[in-house]
Amino acid sequence: MPELPDVELFKKQADKALDTTIEDIEVTDSKFIGVAKSTLDKYVKGKKPQESSRRGKYLFLLMSSSNALIMHFGMTGLLKYSKQTSDLPEYTKCLFLLDNGHQLMYISKRKLGKVEFTKNLDAWIDKTGLGPDALEISEADFLSVFKESRSAIKSFLTNQSLMAGIGNIYADEILFQAGMHPKQKTNSFDPDDGKKLYGHMQEVLKKAIEKEADPAKLPDSYLIPKRKQGAKCPGCGGKVNSYTLSGRRGYFCPKCQKK
Ligand SMILES: [Zn+2]
Repeated sequence: MPELPDVELFKKQADKALDTTIEDIEVTDSKFIGVAKSTLDKYVKGKKPQESSRRGKYLFLLMSSSNALIMHFGMTGLLKYSKQTSDLPEYTKCLFLLDNGHQLMYISKRKLGKVEFTKNLDAWIDKTGLGPDALEISEADFLSVFKESRSAIKSFLTNQSLMAGIGNIYADEILFQAGMHPKQKTNSFDPDDGKKLYGHMQEVLKKAIEKEADPAKLPDSYLIPKRKQGAKCPGCGGKVNSYTLSGRRGYFCPKCQKK
């Protein structure tokens, strides 16, 4: 499932479309489009994307100071920039044809994920209740929400209204690097642990972006390439275990991440 580092890579694809004109928009599967095609034709077609930005797992392509295309990638979505071709990748759901002979393709194999449009991006973000981006949040702001939280530390990291961008996979990695048990309650940690967690969160997200969110390119000390029951823990050589929290399966090392 695309998380902050993946969406940052999609942003780099979107950036290639800045200063081009979107000549046409083709919707091949309307289930993925949370906006009328006529609205896209009116406010996006014929326009130049001026800026891209990202908040958590959402990508925004600004068509003016407030009009924006909004993309969310669900479980399997991605955005790709390529030369125009009639031979589209399977599961292409929406296509933006650019005047430089290239195109942006929104591709998603499974049903979740959506392309939307708003005339007021700030109001849209407020309404959605998205917290600050996990890479942008200051240490002071992070520590203040950390202090207030009473939930399991993993639920805290993945709560998009507190901080946006971290999902199942990167939460497990951050907690592994910090040596913290995913189910330990946030309020049972020392205040210094909050600082430690913030440092690991920044480090893991930046490293993942640098390595193009590719598990094969991540350092040997990372858990992500070893997300399998019984895999060898890169920290202690023991066995990686799975666990379930809020109905989702995660991975951790019981020896390196004691409660
Ligand atoms: Zn271990």
